[in-house]
Amino acid sequence: MLDGVLAPAPNENLQADASPAQATATRSTCPYCGVGCGVLASPGAKGVIGDPAHPANFSRLCSKGSALDETLGLDGRLLYPMRRQADGALARVSWDAALDDVVTGLRRIIDQHGSDAVAVYLSGQLLTEDYYVANKLMKGFIGSANVDTNSRLCMASTVAGHKRAFGADVVPGCYEDLDEADLIVLVGSNAAWCHPVLFQRIERNRQERGARLVVIDTRRTPTAESADLFLQIAPGADQALFCGLLVHLAKAAAFDDDYIRRHTEGLKDALKAAQTIAPSIEATARSTGLREVDIASFYEMFAETPRTVTAFSQGVNQSAQGTDKVNAIINCHLATGRIGKPGASPFSLTGQPNAMGGREVGGLANSLAAHMGFDAESIDRVRRFWNAPRMAKREGFKAVQMFDAIARGDIKALWVVGTNPAASLPNANAARAALAKLELFIVSDNVTSNDTINGGAHLLLPAHAWGEKSGTVTNSERRISRQRAFLPAPGETRADWSIFSDVARRMGFAGFDYRSAADVFRQHAALSAFENNGARAFNIGGFARLSDAEYDALEPTQWPIPACERSGRARLFADGGFFSQSGRAKFVAPATPSLATQVTQDFPLRLNTGRIRDQWHTMTRTGVSPRLARHLAEPYLEISAADADRFGIEDGGFVRVATPYGDCVLRAVVTDRQPPGHIFAPIHWTDETAAHARVGALVAPFVDPFSGQPESKATPAIVTPLRFARQGFFLSRKPMALPQGVWWARIAVANGFGYRVAGNLQDDDWAQIIRAATTSEDLIQLIDETKSLLCGAAFVDDRATFIWGLAPLLPPWDLALELFSLERLDGAERLSLISGRSGRPSANDGPLVCSCFSVGRKKIEAAIAQGCRSASDIGKAIRAGSNCGSCRPEIERLIKVSPAARSSTISTTTGQHA
Ligand code: SF4
Repeated sequence: MLDGVLAPAPNENLQADASPAQATATRSTCPYCGVGCGVLASPGAKGVIGDPAHPANFSRLCSKGSALDETLGLDGRLLYPMRRQADGALARVSWDAALDDVVTGLRRIIDQHGSDAVAVYLSGQLLTEDYYVANKLMKGFIGSANVDTNSRLCMASTVAGHKRAFGADVVPGCYEDLDEADLIVLVGSNAAWCHPVLFQRIERNRQERGARLVVIDTRRTPTAESADLFLQIAPGADQALFCGLLVHLAKAAAFDDDYIRRHTEGLKDALKAAQTIAPSIEATARSTGLREVDIASFYEMFAETPRTVTAFSQGVNQSAQGTDKVNAIINCHLATGRIGKPGASPFSLTGQPNAMGGREVGGLANSLAAHMGFDAESIDRVRRFWNAPRMAKREGFKAVQMFDAIARGDIKALWVVGTNPAASLPNANAARAALAKLELFIVSDNVTSNDTINGGAHLLLPAHAWGEKSGTVTNSERRISRQRAFLPAPGETRADWSIFSDVARRMGFAGFDYRSAADVFRQHAALSAFENNGARAFNIGGFARLSDAEYDALEPTQWPIPACERSGRARLFADGGFFSQSGRAKFVAPATPSLATQVTQDFPLRLNTGRIRDQWHTMTRTGVSPRLARHLAEPYLEISAADADRFGIEDGGFVRVATPYGDCVLRAVVTDRQPPGHIFAPIHWTDETAAHARVGALVAPFVDPFSGQPESKATPAIVTPLRFARQGFFLSRKPMALPQGVWWARIAVANGFGYRVAGNLQDDDWAQIIRAATTSEDLIQLIDETKSLLCGAAFVDDRATFIWGLAPLLPPWDLALELFSLERLDGAERLSLISGRSGRPSANDGPLVCSCFSVGRKKIEAAIAQGCRSASDIGKAIRAGSNCGSCRPEIERLIKVSPAARSSTISTTTGQHA
């Protein structure tokens, strides 16, 4: 199957202790990104390793997956149902009482205002079984399609693009295509950070087979650093580039005429539209901001390489024209017949672990279960299958519309499940304000506090977390894998599918007597096959009669899996067989490229938002891992040197970013990754983890007209410098409540709490914060008025219980962090907290680059100075980058910019010339 291309990864460091762990471990799936890596999980320290047998990763895990065992604690877990009291506090109640409240509230609102006054907002983190029951309850029994999901924010444009082109939401290819392609084009995808294990597969292909990599992005990301050709495109110009490619392919006679004739329709109109948008390379250069020579080079590479995969992600989807961009890409693959063939396909990289599973059961407000739509035939079919008394007859509100409807008062009851819309939705301040209008606001989650819960949730329902859940997820290549429980469910937590089922039964609805996740899955599989004569792509009827034991043992399998089959299919559409009425794929003529918003004098920059390597979503899990926190510890803004100059921003200083929707205060990072006019901020920080860094509050709520997905990458913005008299940190054994006027970001540290802080407080005010944090009389401190330096530490039995450092520039954090982790400090170590100097080798390692082996930048730079000239050299010398590989692009960049490496390159070149 793999043609020998991708053998299990040489993950020696994990393999060394894999065998004993494998014997007793539970096979499950990583809960983060859409790669869907298999893991072997056991309770206890170092309990999660990569699964050598899982075809998504063959034992590899990225830095996030490798740190899963650090995220399994119960601190902050929601363990019991809670009800908000009249005084605003949350109080524990029984499940009976909580569910009675849910049922009574829903009944009252439905009776008074109708079914459409109720909404459910789900998450790509949920299992397929959870999604299925929520949809069945809402769309079949409550009678409203107001069910949407945070997946709307990540891949809805791909869904719409697939449906327009293929007649169904189908990913045609598989991960093996990334091993077998000769050209891989990544569009709007920082795969090195956001799909790291897939990126390692791509890198392996490049090393072993010589595949070329083209990266198309507005930012010079770590992925772009590695590319053979990087096209730093203007925002919103992707469909112009791919329209130009279609025109070029036509001119270059690179079309697969036979495939087009037998399996497609609409080429003439699509080509005509493309010729209007991008008639020539010169015109394409003008609309994309790219050099003609680079465009020509890309087009030639594409035209001459039959085995081409174009993989795309949020940079394409999160756009007011995301659906057209998806179709512009697909058009080029249809025209060349490069679809569903080994190493040749368009390929959507899904953001979340079960965004695909959610799509399969109708988790989106514009679809019914099993990929069916709101046509009369499908509504009736699902009604009969469910024996549903009150089927929703039309599409519901998509995510952004849903919160608008709440703000208008049209939706009066909202049930949020496993997600944090008050932080993650665009225009998040407005979304949070809307929550206050709800008459019934229910949250099912794992945590007692987040920005959404703190928006006034009336009822909290404790749900299983990863490690306790049992069910299925579907990854980016249509592969259904099991998530299996390996930890006991703590407190009174329950499976989400079981909570929805209980509510349904209490509302008097029949058909919710599921005993297990397997029961739910079998019904979901049966519905996919129900009256499915092959016209519907999503069919897993082969799983409809799985026994409980077979469900428990289910191997990762790619759908479709029709009745009487168990093995699935890796690729689709090589020989046509599309799911449109004509059975043909459709070329779609895209609209003329444009952005939803224009920059103005008041907001002259474009704000792009996205993920970073070692954090996930709103950090409720990754944010508790000290190891992951060491990579990029604070919320930040990337800005070009030209814009930093223009606006007076200093590298390492602070910056206020404002848009018409909100503002944030972030650390400034001046970098050549950003082109002038464009800034970038990561999405992960919330009001729980930082003082003023909820980036969702900055994002414009404009959406794609077909998919309803917001344009999260091009909001007009302005930056202004902020100067604080002091900045620094606190390291405390207890959580701290910092007063107004202090900017802070909370950082996970071992056995305590870390805070980076900044502010213009008077010395007395800082002293008061310090006094409030410790009662110990064993103190050392330095107050240097000339340098404006305040630092010190408090001890109990020679163990540092509180360390502080405040100065005009950030004092040495890494040293303090290391000393905070020790059980006892000797006299020299105490003094080093004051002097900021230490003889400890690791304390001077600099910012963390390699999470797996805790290797900092300075150590890598030293290895480069000693002669390492590749990421592999570095791996051999100091291990960095030799495990999960997520940091290899950063290591390569350090080599590229290192004076030592550059001078040796110059002297080698000079020598050759001589
Ligand atoms: Fe998890 Fe990383 Fe694999 Fe994504 S690439 S599924 S985050 S281990």
